[in-house]
Amino acid sequence: MSEKVTVITGAGGFIGGGLVAQLRAEGRRKIRAIDIKPFDEWYQIFDDVENLQLDLNAMDACDVSARGAGDIYNFAANMGGMGFIEHNKALCMLSVLINTHMLQAAEKHKADRFFYASSACVYNADKQKTFEAPSLKEEDAYPAMPEDGYGWEKLFSERMCRHFREDFGLYTRAARFHNVYGPWGTWFGGREKAPAAICRKVVEAKISGRHEIEIWGSGDQTRSFMYIDDCLKGVRMIMDSQIIDPINLGSSEAVTINQLVDIVEAIAGIKLKRRYDLSAPKGVNGRNSDNTLIQKLLNWQPNTTLRAGLEKTYAWIYDQYQKRERGEKGVVRESSIAHAAK
Ligand code: NAD
Repeated sequence: MSEKVTVITGAGGFIGGGLVAQLRAEGRRKIRAIDIKPFDEWYQIFDDVENLQLDLNAMDACDVSARGAGDIYNFAANMGGMGFIEHNKALCMLSVLINTHMLQAAEKHKADRFFYASSACVYNADKQKTFEAPSLKEEDAYPAMPEDGYGWEKLFSERMCRHFREDFGLYTRAARFHNVYGPWGTWFGGREKAPAAICRKVVEAKISGRHEIEIWGSGDQTRSFMYIDDCLKGVRMIMDSQIIDPINLGSSEAVTINQLVDIVEAIAGIKLKRRYDLSAPKGVNGRNSDNTLIQKLLNWQPNTTLRAGLEKTYAWIYDQYQKRERGEKGVVRESSIAHAAK
């Protein structure tokens, strides 16, 4: 029997593009990569895989995407950092169309396995009010009070995966990602998250000689950040596992945003004057990943240190910044696809 095709949605973006690159490097050839963006805006693109530009909000596009599928990794979603998700709640919730239609298509075409990229934004906001980075356990998603917009969609779609599994026998797996960062991630334009934004601001300060940095909020907010290689490794382990309920996939090394800036400053070898914008979107006060369950079930958890991951990310953003300044090709940039971003 011929090898089935591995389908990766959101493949023009950060994590999806990373998975395509990884599978391809391992010699997998039957890969279908799908994204709504024009091909010249994909972060990574490879000629030897089947690349499709499709809007997966539409059922017929999902139908085409799932034909002959073995594994489906669903990474397509409208997302961004806090600035984006706080100002685009309807747009974030509309990603429910992508997951719903992809599940229907997976079921129709009898895909072998389906992976859903959920988020730490599903966790109950009441449990994230202090700055002491409460470690969130899987059960803390209920009673439900997730991040408005984006988090509600993720929680709902997790449940949809569960019901497709229970009612139709579709093999589904879901991981709750906690802040993924690394090379090939969005680093400017409004959708970037804190590690990339801070690396970019430090690069700007270093290159311009204006030794100042603006920080959103008081800088006391705590988060953990997972390096892209750990994310991809975890996705594949969870896909292969018997873990049927959504599970945390994140680092448990929590830092404040101020500490994150300290690390990037140390990597860049500069010290910056900090200005705090208290009116900027800042999200919950504290959040960390409780990795008890993943450690128990997979005997593994994301383990790249923040310093090591940021060194690679800073170097990559420095290079990207210079390429952009010189007007060269190969710069990861915001999509031209119209969206309601403010
Ligand atoms: P990304 O924005 O880089 O990639 C998502 C891709 O989906 C984009 O390229 C976008 O063009 C595409 N897309 C959006 N709407 C589409 C549509 N209608 N049809 C086809 N493609 C469409 O984001 P990412 O960081 O790679 O995130 C991947 C997944 O992981 C998302 O589901 C996201 O919600 C989830 N996640 C990411 C993080 C993180 O820190 N990066 C954290 C939690 C969850």
